[in-house]
Amino acid sequence: MKRLPKPDMKAEEVYVSCVSGVVTDAAKAHFQACAKDLLELSQQYDAWAASNELHLFRSSLRGNRKQVAAGGLTKGELTDLCTNHMVKQGQRARTYYDRLMLLAPHGKCPLCGFGQASTLDHFLSKALYPSFSVLPNNLVPCCSDCNRKKESTKLTIDNQIPHPYFESAIIENEVWLNVSLKETTPTTAMYFVNVPIGWSDAMAVRVRNYFHGLNLASRFSVEAASEIISLSDFLAQLGTDQHIGNYLERMAKTERALHKNTWKAALYEALAGSIWYRSGGWHR
Ligand SMILES: [Zn+2]
Repeated sequence: MKRLPKPDMKAEEVYVSCVSGVVTDAAKAHFQACAKDLLELSQQYDAWAASNELHLFRSSLRGNRKQVAAGGLTKGELTDLCTNHMVKQGQRARTYYDRLMLLAPHGKCPLCGFGQASTLDHFLSKALYPSFSVLPNNLVPCCSDCNRKKESTKLTIDNQIPHPYFESAIIENEVWLNVSLKETTPTTAMYFVNVPIGWSDAMAVRVRNYFHGLNLASRFSVEAASEIISLSDFLAQLGTDQHIGNYLERMAKTERALHKNTWKAALYEALAGSIWYRSGGWHR
């Protein structure tokens, strides 16, 4: 997972911009009257996200658009505010949506690292936490696959995942993603999480939940499979086992230095460390 810089926009300005698109005066006044309550909740969101305690928010019930979510606003009103005034093309607040999408590093999904970022994910789902429907710190750019796999579930202390805007830098600075190789032709990369010594149990749980919840073992393995095929043709041109070993080691070092926990970094480290692969396992 790639951590992202927090959105450079205030919760209040995004909310005001969304509300400015509401058509009827009565509905607009209702949103304006509830602004204070919502903004207080957004401050609580920042505090609890920073301490990994977002599960302390009470979730709404599924369905039932009429249930009151925050300050007298219903779940339906809050989710529609997002859909009709932030997501919809041509609306004034759409500019914030587009700016949030630009936070995706090189247009890539920060969750899987290889998909194209194409949507904004509600970190706390708007179906269960409608109060955060248009809160910028709750909106994370990601690819459609990750968005689909990230289920709209009630957050508990046990099912938390890392928050790209709030997670500690440790998740990027220490290696936790590894590969073991199946000694077949061509080889298959099997991804697993190996939590570093010294991590808190809570952090280990977050990373494991993220890895399993987004089905990354299988999705990384698919990315690795095409890399392994083209790599095989390239290695054939290098000639000696020594040259092949040197190349794999250089790639492993370079990829781990770039980003420690990408599918590619873990793959090259495993390939470089495998005597079997270096001495002929690379043939296809
Ligand atoms: Zn993704």
